[in-house]
Amino acid sequence: MAKIQMTTPIVEMDGDEMTRILWKMIKDELLLPFIDLKTEYYDLGLKHRDETQDRVTVESAEATKKYGVAVKCATITPNAARVKEYDLTEMWKSPNGTIRAILDGTVFRAPIIVKGIEPNVRSWKKPITIARHAYGDVYRAVEIKVDQPGVAELVFTAEDGTVTRETIHEFHGSGVLQGMHNLNKSIESFARSCFNYALDTKQDLWFSSKDTISKKYDHTFKDLMQEIYENEFQKQFEEAGITYFYTLIDDAVARVMKSEGGYIWACKNYDGDVMSDMVSSAFGSLAMMTSVLVSPDGCYEYEAAHGTVQRHYYKHLAGEETSTNSVATIFAWSGALRKRAELDGLKNLAEFADRLEKATIQTIEEGKMTKDLAMITTLQGVQVLNSEDFIKAIREYL
Ligand code: NAP
Ligand code: MG
Repeated sequence: MAKIQMTTPIVEMDGDEMTRILWKMIKDELLLPFIDLKTEYYDLGLKHRDETQDRVTVESAEATKKYGVAVKCATITPNAARVKEYDLTEMWKSPNGTIRAILDGTVFRAPIIVKGIEPNVRSWKKPITIARHAYGDVYRAVEIKVDQPGVAELVFTAEDGTVTRETIHEFHGSGVLQGMHNLNKSIESFARSCFNYALDTKQDLWFSSKDTISKKYDHTFKDLMQEIYENEFQKQFEEAGITYFYTLIDDAVARVMKSEGGYIWACKNYDGDVMSDMVSSAFGSLAMMTSVLVSPDGCYEYEAAHGTVQRHYYKHLAGEETSTNSVATIFAWSGALRKRAELDGLKNLAEFADRLEKATIQTIEEGKMTKDLAMITTLQGVQVLNSEDFIKAIREYL
Protein backbone atom coordinates (compact mmCIF):
# COMPACT_ATOMS: atom_id res chain seq x y z
CA MET A 1 0.00 0.00 0.00
CA ALA A 2 1.34 3.43 -0.90
CA LYS A 3 1.84 5.68 2.09
CA ILE A 4 -0.35 8.76 2.56
CA GLN A 5 1.51 11.90 1.54
CA MET A 6 1.74 15.20 3.41
CA THR A 7 2.72 18.62 2.11
CA THR A 8 3.36 20.81 5.17
CA PRO A 9 5.09 19.53 8.32
CA ILE A 10 3.35 19.28 11.68
CA VAL A 11 5.33 20.75 14.56
CA GLU A 12 6.14 17.75 16.75
CA MET A 13 6.89 18.46 20.43
CA ASP A 14 8.22 15.37 22.16
CA GLY A 15 7.96 15.12 25.94
CA ASP A 16 8.76 13.17 29.08
CA GLU A 17 8.47 9.90 30.99
CA MET A 18 5.68 7.40 30.22
CA THR A 19 4.06 9.61 27.61
CA ARG A 20 7.39 9.80 25.76
CA ILE A 21 7.40 5.98 25.64
CA LEU A 22 3.80 5.98 24.34
CA TRP A 23 4.69 8.69 21.82
CA LYS A 24 7.26 6.46 20.12
CA MET A 25 4.97 3.42 20.16
CA ILE A 26 2.14 5.43 18.58
CA LYS A 27 4.44 6.69 15.84
CA ASP A 28 5.96 3.28 15.14
CA GLU A 29 2.72 1.27 15.20
CA LEU A 30 -0.03 3.64 14.15
CA LEU A 31 1.48 6.42 12.04
CA LEU A 32 4.73 5.59 10.25
CA PRO A 33 3.45 2.38 8.58
CA PHE A 34 0.64 4.34 6.92
CA ILE A 35 1.79 7.95 6.46
CA ASP A 36 4.85 9.48 4.91
CA LEU A 37 4.95 11.53 8.11
CA LYS A 38 6.34 15.04 7.80
CA THR A 39 7.15 16.73 11.08
CA GLU A 40 9.49 19.41 12.33
CA TYR A 41 10.78 17.78 15.51
CA TYR A 42 11.40 19.63 18.79
CA ASP A 43 12.56 17.66 21.79
CA LEU A 44 10.82 19.19 24.81
CA GLY A 45 12.06 16.39 27.06
CA LEU A 46 13.31 18.00 30.29
CA LYS A 47 16.94 17.12 29.66
CA HIS A 48 16.98 18.84 26.29
CA ARG A 49 15.05 21.86 27.61
CA ASP A 50 17.80 22.22 30.19
CA GLU A 51 20.60 21.81 27.62
CA THR A 52 19.08 24.54 25.46
CA GLN A 53 18.27 26.82 28.42
CA ASP A 54 14.60 26.25 27.45
CA ARG A 55 15.12 27.86 24.02
CA VAL A 56 13.70 24.73 22.41
CA THR A 57 10.29 25.44 23.96
CA VAL A 58 10.24 28.97 22.58
CA GLU A 59 11.41 27.74 19.17
CA SER A 60 8.68 25.09 19.05
CA ALA A 61 6.03 27.73 19.79
CA GLU A 62 7.46 29.99 17.09
CA ALA A 63 7.39 27.10 14.62
CA THR A 64 3.71 26.59 15.52
CA LYS A 65 3.07 30.22 14.57
CA LYS A 66 4.83 29.59 11.28
CA TYR A 67 3.16 26.30 10.29
CA GLY A 68 -0.16 26.61 12.17
CA VAL A 69 -0.44 23.05 13.56
CA ALA A 70 1.46 21.33 16.38
CA VAL A 71 1.14 18.14 18.41
CA LYS A 72 2.58 18.01 21.91
CA CYS A 73 3.50 15.17 24.25
CA ALA A 74 3.01 15.71 28.00
CA THR A 75 6.02 17.32 29.65
CA ILE A 76 7.36 17.67 33.18
CA THR A 77 6.89 21.04 34.84
CA PRO A 78 9.92 21.04 37.12
CA ASN A 79 9.66 21.50 40.87
CA ALA A 80 12.44 21.23 43.46
CA ALA A 81 12.42 17.41 43.29
CA ARG A 82 12.81 17.47 39.49
CA VAL A 83 15.69 19.95 39.67
CA LYS A 84 17.52 17.35 41.75
CA GLU A 85 16.37 14.32 39.75
CA TYR A 86 17.49 15.82 36.42
CA ASP A 87 20.35 17.93 37.81
CA LEU A 88 18.82 21.04 36.21
CA THR A 89 20.62 24.36 35.89
CA GLU A 90 17.33 26.17 36.60
CA MET A 91 13.72 25.40 37.62
CA TRP A 92 12.35 25.93 34.11
CA LYS A 93 8.82 27.28 33.70
CA SER A 94 5.90 25.14 32.55
CA PRO A 95 6.28 24.53 28.78
CA ASN A 96 2.50 24.79 28.43
CA GLY A 97 2.62 28.22 30.06
CA THR A 98 5.47 29.37 27.79
CA ILE A 99 3.73 28.12 24.65
CA ARG A 100 0.39 29.60 25.67
CA ALA A 101 2.01 32.97 26.33
CA ILE A 102 3.56 33.01 22.83
CA LEU A 103 0.46 31.78 21.00
CA ASP A 104 -1.93 33.78 23.23
CA GLY A 105 -4.34 30.89 23.05
CA THR A 106 -7.34 29.36 24.73
CA VAL A 107 -7.49 25.67 25.69
CA PHE A 108 -10.51 23.62 24.65
CA ARG A 109 -11.08 20.30 26.40
CA ALA A 110 -13.66 17.70 25.45
CA PRO A 111 -14.30 14.11 26.56
CA ILE A 112 -13.86 11.21 24.13
CA ILE A 113 -17.09 9.26 24.31
CA VAL A 114 -17.11 5.45 24.06
CA LYS A 115 -19.77 2.87 24.85
CA GLY A 116 -19.01 1.20 28.14
CA ILE A 117 -17.58 4.32 29.81
CA GLU A 118 -20.82 6.03 30.78
CA PRO A 119 -21.07 9.63 32.03
CA ASN A 120 -22.39 10.07 35.56
CA VAL A 121 -24.98 12.53 34.24
CA ARG A 122 -27.57 10.36 32.47
CA SER A 123 -28.72 12.97 29.96
CA TRP A 124 -25.21 13.60 28.54
CA LYS A 125 -24.96 11.92 25.15
CA LYS A 126 -22.46 14.14 23.33
CA PRO A 127 -19.23 15.77 24.51
CA ILE A 128 -19.31 19.05 26.39
CA THR A 129 -16.29 21.17 25.47
CA ILE A 130 -15.02 23.61 28.07
CA ALA A 131 -13.14 26.71 26.91
CA ARG A 132 -11.38 28.37 29.81
CA HIS A 133 -10.13 31.95 29.67
CA ALA A 134 -6.61 31.62 30.99
CA TYR A 135 -5.60 35.12 32.05
CA GLY A 136 -6.17 37.25 35.12
CA ASP A 137 -9.03 37.49 37.64
CA VAL A 138 -8.31 35.72 40.92
CA TYR A 139 -5.16 34.08 39.45
CA ARG A 140 -3.45 37.48 39.26
CA ALA A 141 -5.14 39.03 42.28
CA VAL A 142 -3.44 40.95 45.07
CA GLU A 143 -4.75 40.39 48.57
CA ILE A 144 -4.53 42.04 51.97
CA LYS A 145 -5.44 40.65 55.38
CA VAL A 146 -7.02 43.44 57.42
CA ASP A 147 -6.40 43.22 61.16
CA GLN A 148 -7.65 46.57 62.44
CA PRO A 149 -10.35 49.17 61.66
CA GLY A 150 -9.78 51.32 58.58
CA VAL A 151 -11.00 52.24 55.10
CA ALA A 152 -10.33 50.14 52.02
CA GLU A 153 -10.38 52.00 48.71
CA LEU A 154 -9.99 51.09 45.06
CA VAL A 155 -7.79 53.74 43.41
CA PHE A 156 -6.84 54.05 39.77
CA THR A 157 -4.24 56.69 38.89
CA ALA A 158 -4.28 57.31 35.16
CA GLU A 159 -1.15 58.17 33.23
CA ASP A 160 -2.51 61.70 32.75
CA GLY A 161 -2.84 62.13 36.51
CA THR A 162 -6.62 61.69 36.82
CA VAL A 163 -7.58 59.72 39.90
CA THR A 164 -10.65 57.50 40.19
CA ARG A 165 -11.51 56.39 43.70
CA GLU A 166 -14.16 54.08 45.16
CA THR A 167 -14.65 53.04 48.75
CA ILE A 168 -14.67 49.28 49.04
CA HIS A 169 -15.50 49.02 52.71
CA GLU A 170 -15.10 50.77 56.06
CA PHE A 171 -13.70 48.08 58.32
CA HIS A 172 -14.58 48.15 62.01
CA GLY A 173 -12.62 45.01 62.71
CA SER A 174 -10.55 42.42 60.90
CA GLY A 175 -11.32 41.01 57.46
CA VAL A 176 -9.88 40.34 54.00
CA LEU A 177 -9.45 42.30 50.75
CA GLN A 178 -8.77 41.34 47.16
CA GLY A 179 -7.99 43.35 44.03
CA MET A 180 -8.15 41.76 40.60
CA HIS A 181 -8.00 42.78 36.97
CA ASN A 182 -8.34 41.71 33.39
CA LEU A 183 -7.43 43.20 30.01
CA ASN A 184 -9.70 43.93 27.05
CA LYS A 185 -7.00 42.57 24.76
CA SER A 186 -6.98 39.21 26.53
CA ILE A 187 -10.78 38.98 26.66
CA GLU A 188 -10.96 39.80 22.95
CA SER A 189 -8.40 37.09 22.09
CA PHE A 190 -10.42 34.63 24.14
CA ALA A 191 -13.59 35.65 22.32
CA ARG A 192 -12.02 35.19 18.88
CA SER A 193 -10.54 31.80 19.81
CA CYS A 194 -13.97 30.64 21.04
CA PHE A 195 -15.87 31.86 17.98
CA ASN A 196 -13.27 30.34 15.62
CA TYR A 197 -13.37 27.02 17.44
CA ALA A 198 -17.18 26.92 17.38
CA LEU A 199 -17.12 27.50 13.60
CA ASP A 200 -14.39 24.93 13.22
CA THR A 201 -16.27 22.19 15.09
CA LYS A 202 -19.77 23.37 14.08
CA GLN A 203 -21.04 23.50 17.64
CA ASP A 204 -23.10 26.11 19.49
CA LEU A 205 -21.19 28.39 21.84
CA TRP A 206 -22.39 29.34 25.32
CA PHE A 207 -20.74 31.97 27.46
CA SER A 208 -21.61 32.57 31.07
CA SER A 209 -20.64 35.05 33.78
CA LYS A 210 -22.23 36.94 36.67
CA ASP A 211 -22.97 40.28 35.03
CA THR A 212 -26.09 40.97 37.13
CA ILE A 213 -23.91 41.26 40.22
CA SER A 214 -20.65 42.37 38.61
CA LYS A 215 -22.04 45.23 36.56
CA LYS A 216 -18.70 46.53 35.28
CA TYR A 217 -16.23 43.65 35.51
CA ASP A 218 -18.23 40.68 34.27
CA HIS A 219 -20.40 42.96 32.15
CA THR A 220 -17.29 43.94 30.17
CA PHE A 221 -16.71 40.27 29.30
CA LYS A 222 -20.33 39.95 28.16
CA ASP A 223 -20.19 43.19 26.13
CA LEU A 224 -16.87 42.43 24.41
CA MET A 225 -18.01 38.91 23.47
CA GLN A 226 -21.26 40.30 22.04
CA GLU A 227 -19.51 43.09 20.15
CA ILE A 228 -16.99 40.75 18.53
CA TYR A 229 -19.73 38.27 17.72
CA GLU A 230 -21.86 40.88 15.95
CA ASN A 231 -18.99 42.57 14.14
CA GLU A 232 -16.96 39.57 13.06
CA PHE A 233 -18.77 36.26 13.42
CA GLN A 234 -22.56 36.51 13.36
CA LYS A 235 -22.87 36.08 9.62
CA GLN A 236 -20.58 33.03 9.60
CA PHE A 237 -22.47 31.51 12.54
CA GLU A 238 -25.77 31.91 10.72
CA GLU A 239 -24.34 30.34 7.59
CA ALA A 240 -22.98 27.41 9.62
CA GLY A 241 -26.33 26.99 11.39
CA ILE A 242 -24.89 27.41 14.87
CA THR A 243 -25.73 29.87 17.64
CA TYR A 244 -23.96 31.97 20.24
CA PHE A 245 -25.74 32.73 23.44
CA TYR A 246 -24.95 34.39 26.72
CA THR A 247 -26.46 33.37 30.00
CA LEU A 248 -25.84 33.80 33.73
CA ILE A 249 -23.41 31.26 35.21
CA ASP A 250 -26.07 29.81 37.53
CA ASP A 251 -28.49 29.38 34.65
CA ALA A 252 -25.70 27.79 32.57
CA VAL A 253 -24.94 25.23 35.30
CA ALA A 254 -28.61 24.25 35.52
CA ARG A 255 -28.90 23.94 31.73
CA VAL A 256 -25.68 21.91 31.41
CA MET A 257 -26.99 19.34 33.90
CA LYS A 258 -30.17 18.84 31.88
CA SER A 259 -28.59 19.03 28.42
CA GLU A 260 -27.50 16.22 26.17
CA GLY A 261 -24.16 17.92 25.41
CA GLY A 262 -22.75 18.76 22.02
CA TYR A 263 -21.77 22.41 22.59
CA ILE A 264 -18.88 24.57 23.77
CA TRP A 265 -19.16 26.22 27.15
CA ALA A 266 -16.87 29.25 27.40
CA CYS A 267 -15.98 30.14 30.97
CA LYS A 268 -14.11 32.86 32.81
CA ASN A 269 -10.84 31.73 34.36
CA TYR A 270 -12.10 30.52 37.76
CA ASP A 271 -15.35 29.07 36.42
CA GLY A 272 -13.39 27.17 33.76
CA ASP A 273 -10.93 25.81 36.31
CA VAL A 274 -13.72 24.40 38.47
CA MET A 275 -16.20 23.40 35.77
CA SER A 276 -13.64 21.59 33.62
CA ASP A 277 -12.74 19.31 36.54
CA MET A 278 -16.42 18.69 37.20
CA VAL A 279 -17.25 17.93 33.57
CA SER A 280 -14.17 15.76 32.95
CA SER A 281 -14.59 13.65 36.07
CA ALA A 282 -18.31 13.20 35.37
CA PHE A 283 -17.42 11.94 31.89
CA GLY A 284 -14.98 9.33 33.22
CA SER A 285 -11.23 9.96 32.92
CA LEU A 286 -8.51 12.48 32.07
CA ALA A 287 -7.00 9.88 29.77
CA MET A 288 -10.20 10.10 27.69
CA MET A 289 -10.08 13.85 27.01
CA THR A 290 -8.94 15.79 23.98
CA SER A 291 -7.21 19.09 24.56
CA VAL A 292 -6.30 21.73 22.00
CA LEU A 293 -4.84 25.19 22.33
CA VAL A 294 -6.30 27.57 19.74
CA SER A 295 -4.73 30.97 19.14
CA PRO A 296 -6.81 33.99 18.09
CA ASP A 297 -5.02 34.03 14.73
CA GLY A 298 -5.90 30.38 14.09
CA CYS A 299 -2.90 28.25 15.18
CA TYR A 300 -3.65 24.87 16.77
CA GLU A 301 -1.63 22.85 19.27
CA TYR A 302 -3.04 19.41 20.13
CA GLU A 303 -2.07 17.61 23.34
CA ALA A 304 -3.28 15.15 25.98
CA ALA A 305 -5.00 16.61 29.04
CA HIS A 306 -3.08 14.41 31.50
CA GLY A 307 0.53 14.55 32.67
CA THR A 308 3.55 12.33 32.03
CA VAL A 309 2.19 9.49 34.25
CA GLN A 310 5.33 9.41 36.37
CA ARG A 311 4.29 6.45 38.55
CA HIS A 312 3.89 4.19 35.52
CA TYR A 313 7.23 5.37 34.10
CA TYR A 314 9.12 4.28 37.22
CA LYS A 315 7.46 0.86 36.93
CA HIS A 316 8.51 0.75 33.28
CA LEU A 317 12.10 1.65 34.24
CA ALA A 318 12.05 -1.13 36.83
CA GLY A 319 11.17 -3.57 34.06
CA GLU A 320 7.57 -4.05 35.21
CA GLU A 321 4.62 -4.17 32.86
CA THR A 322 2.50 -1.01 32.54
CA SER A 323 -1.05 -0.50 31.35
CA THR A 324 -1.05 3.19 30.47
CA ASN A 325 -3.91 4.63 28.44
CA SER A 326 -2.66 6.18 25.19
CA VAL A 327 -6.06 7.37 23.88
CA ALA A 328 -5.59 11.07 24.65
CA THR A 329 -2.15 11.05 22.99
CA ILE A 330 -3.48 9.19 19.94
CA PHE A 331 -6.28 11.76 19.64
CA ALA A 332 -3.74 14.58 19.89
CA TRP A 333 -2.08 13.10 16.77
CA SER A 334 -5.35 12.49 14.93
CA GLY A 335 -6.49 16.03 15.73
CA ALA A 336 -3.27 17.52 14.37
CA LEU A 337 -3.32 15.31 11.26
CA ARG A 338 -6.96 16.21 10.53
CA LYS A 339 -6.28 19.93 10.92
CA ARG A 340 -3.19 19.70 8.69
CA ALA A 341 -5.27 17.77 6.12
CA GLU A 342 -7.97 20.43 6.22
CA LEU A 343 -5.51 23.30 5.76
CA ASP A 344 -3.66 21.54 2.93
CA GLY A 345 -6.70 19.94 1.28
CA LEU A 346 -5.48 16.35 1.81
CA LYS A 347 -8.52 14.08 1.70
CA ASN A 348 -6.58 10.83 2.35
CA LEU A 349 -4.94 12.25 5.41
CA ALA A 350 -8.27 13.47 6.84
CA GLU A 351 -9.77 10.03 6.28
CA PHE A 352 -6.82 8.42 8.01
CA ALA A 353 -7.33 10.65 11.06
CA ASP A 354 -10.99 9.57 11.22
CA ARG A 355 -10.06 5.91 10.86
CA LEU A 356 -7.43 6.11 13.58
CA GLU A 357 -10.01 7.52 16.01
CA LYS A 358 -12.61 4.96 14.96
CA ALA A 359 -10.17 2.07 15.41
CA THR A 360 -9.25 3.37 18.88
CA ILE A 361 -12.88 3.61 19.96
CA GLN A 362 -13.74 0.25 18.44
CA THR A 363 -10.89 -1.44 20.33
CA ILE A 364 -12.30 -0.21 23.64
CA GLU A 365 -15.94 -0.89 22.74
CA GLU A 366 -15.03 -4.47 21.88
CA GLY A 367 -13.64 -4.91 25.38
CA LYS A 368 -9.90 -4.43 24.87
CA MET A 369 -8.66 -1.66 27.11
CA THR A 370 -6.06 -0.44 29.60
CA LYS A 371 -6.44 -0.94 33.33
CA ASP A 372 -7.74 2.54 34.14
CA LEU A 373 -10.75 1.98 31.87
CA ALA A 374 -11.29 -1.63 32.91
CA MET A 375 -11.85 -0.33 36.44
CA ILE A 376 -14.71 1.97 35.44
CA THR A 377 -16.32 0.26 32.44
CA THR A 378 -19.85 -1.11 32.41
CA LEU A 379 -18.81 -3.74 29.83
CA GLN A 380 -18.53 -7.34 31.03
CA GLY A 381 -15.58 -9.70 30.59
CA VAL A 382 -13.10 -7.16 29.28
CA GLN A 383 -9.51 -7.92 28.37
CA VAL A 384 -6.95 -5.74 30.21
CA LEU A 385 -4.02 -5.00 27.91
CA ASN A 386 -0.58 -3.60 28.64
CA SER A 387 0.52 -0.28 27.13
CA GLU A 388 2.05 -1.83 24.03
CA ASP A 389 -0.60 -4.50 23.36
CA PHE A 390 -3.37 -1.90 23.52
CA ILE A 391 -1.68 0.10 20.75
CA LYS A 392 -1.10 -3.10 18.77
CA ALA A 393 -4.78 -4.02 19.15
CA ILE A 394 -5.70 -0.63 17.68
CA ARG A 395 -3.35 -1.28 14.78
CA GLU A 396 -5.21 -4.49 13.94
CA TYR A 397 -8.50 -2.62 13.58
CA LEU A 398 -6.77 0.17 11.69
P1 NAP B 1 -0.47 12.50 35.68
O1 NAP B 1 0.67 12.23 34.80
O2 NAP B 1 -1.67 13.07 35.05
O3 NAP B 1 -0.86 11.15 36.42
C1 NAP B 1 -1.56 11.09 37.66
C2 NAP B 1 -2.22 9.73 37.82
O4 NAP B 1 -3.38 9.69 36.99
C3 NAP B 1 -1.36 8.57 37.35
O5 NAP B 1 -0.48 8.14 38.37
C4 NAP B 1 -2.40 7.55 36.96
O6 NAP B 1 -3.01 6.95 38.09
C5 NAP B 1 -3.48 8.44 36.34
N1 NAP B 1 -3.27 8.65 34.90
C6 NAP B 1 -3.01 9.83 34.25
N2 NAP B 1 -2.91 9.65 32.95
C7 NAP B 1 -3.09 8.33 32.72
C8 NAP B 1 -3.08 7.52 31.55
N3 NAP B 1 -2.86 8.05 30.35
N4 NAP B 1 -3.30 6.19 31.69
C9 NAP B 1 -3.52 5.65 32.90
N5 NAP B 1 -3.54 6.38 34.05
C10 NAP B 1 -3.33 7.69 33.96
O7 NAP B 1 -0.04 13.47 36.84
P2 NAP B 1 1.27 13.44 37.78
O8 NAP B 1 1.82 12.06 37.88
O9 NAP B 1 0.85 14.16 38.99
O10 NAP B 1 2.29 14.34 37.02
C11 NAP B 1 3.43 13.82 36.34
C12 NAP B 1 4.11 14.94 35.61
O11 NAP B 1 3.26 15.43 34.59
C13 NAP B 1 4.47 16.12 36.49
O12 NAP B 1 5.88 16.35 36.39
C14 NAP B 1 3.70 17.30 35.89
O13 NAP B 1 4.49 18.46 35.86
C15 NAP B 1 3.38 16.83 34.50
N6 NAP B 1 2.14 17.36 33.90
C16 NAP B 1 2.19 17.70 32.59
C17 NAP B 1 1.05 18.13 31.91
C18 NAP B 1 1.17 18.46 30.46
O14 NAP B 1 2.24 18.47 29.90
N7 NAP B 1 0.07 18.75 29.80
C19 NAP B 1 -0.17 18.17 32.59
C20 NAP B 1 -0.21 17.78 33.94
C21 NAP B 1 0.95 17.36 34.58
P3 NAP B 1 -2.48 5.58 38.76
O15 NAP B 1 -1.09 5.84 39.20
O16 NAP B 1 -3.45 5.39 39.88
O17 NAP B 1 -2.56 4.50 37.71
MG1 MG C 1 -8.07 22.92 38.47
